[in-house]
Amino acid sequence: MKTSMYSERSLKMKPSFIREILKAANQPGMISFAGGLPNTSLFPAKQMEEATKMVFKEYGDQALQYSATEGIPELKDWIKNYYWNEFQMKVEEDEILITSGSQQGLDLISRTFINRKDKVLIESPGYLGAINCFESNDADLMSIPIEGDGPDIDRLKNVFNFNPDIKLFYAVPTFQNPSGACYSKEKRNQIITLMKAHSALFIEDDPYGELYYSGGKYTPMKKQLGDKGILLGSFSKMLSPGLRVGWVIAEKQIIKALCKQKQSCDLHTSTLNQYMIYCYLKQNDFKEHLKGLRTFYKKNCEMMMDEIHQQLWTKSSFIEPKGGMFLWLDLPKEISIDSLLYKAMSEGVLFVPGKSFELPGCSNNAIRLNFSNSTFEEIKRGILVLDNIIND
Ligand code: PMP
Repeated sequence: MKTSMYSERSLKMKPSFIREILKAANQPGMISFAGGLPNTSLFPAKQMEEATKMVFKEYGDQALQYSATEGIPELKDWIKNYYWNEFQMKVEEDEILITSGSQQGLDLISRTFINRKDKVLIESPGYLGAINCFESNDADLMSIPIEGDGPDIDRLKNVFNFNPDIKLFYAVPTFQNPSGACYSKEKRNQIITLMKAHSALFIEDDPYGELYYSGGKYTPMKKQLGDKGILLGSFSKMLSPGLRVGWVIAEKQIIKALCKQKQSCDLHTSTLNQYMIYCYLKQNDFKEHLKGLRTFYKKNCEMMMDEIHQQLWTKSSFIEPKGGMFLWLDLPKEISIDSLLYKAMSEGVLFVPGKSFELPGCSNNAIRLNFSNSTFEEIKRGILVLDNIIND
């Protein structure tokens, strides 16, 4: 097909480097620290089977029918109660939109708010799926560096002072992808104050909040931000990413506007999948399930940290992830990440270079290591391979 046939939007999208790496991850014997996959062994497959039986028993054909763009009322009600029970955060049903994963939430937000060249502030390093989404919607992206406990607040204030027309500030304050950073309570409060004094909306992406290993659980900033905040949630990391069910919480006018966009994307999120999740939640002890995930991932995270301490420690540094799925390993400048990746791949180990998560012009000499989807043995062997290459 002639290039001129494709839209500017389509031509602008670069093939994702991570996707290319992930293709290699499927080769037999590969140890992949590259993806961000939940561990398959933790999916409650049997319980999902039972939940599906319940769906057909209780809802029958309705589960196979078109349904409301906003999402099925039962699941919205569960989400409303979840925020109330966990955080005493009041959410009305018309403030919830069920989406096809939180990735769709990001897309709908972009379509709803971003005009060509509108300024969107993101984190550096930042979540690649969000960067791609904002870019394809023609945003003028700028970034703020993230430390282990969030952005430097004075610097953030400066960014807003020099750019009063920033429209959206997108962040993953809790166990960030890719850095594992977690904003401190103090910085959260400072950002909330800053956002309230500014016209920009704060887009709080929170897919990892329930995966906390030390330091406990964080209340979404949206609770204090009120109408200044939009919160994204997802069942992907808590239950199953394959079902593609997430949600957006925002004031009802925003939800209406997002709904209009969703209608032109997919009309609604799979009715059956929503009912499956709802029936699963009804039949099972979800809190126990989440506890199981935390216990499992915490051990993997500790294992990876121990191995790095033993092997790579003198040549690297990292901030202990308090939750989530990623460890961000900073390496000395003299180590070429590209050549490390090339050699590691040839020895069967994959990771994602930190520069993949940056806007042009920003750089780092770090690598992102995922610890959720490897066995202890793989973590041990994989870190040893990296260590041998680095010390070669
Ligand atoms: N936001 C962040 C920060 C993520 O890491 C991911 C998944 N990698 C998503 C959003 C998208 O998740 P999903 O669409 O599966 O809910």
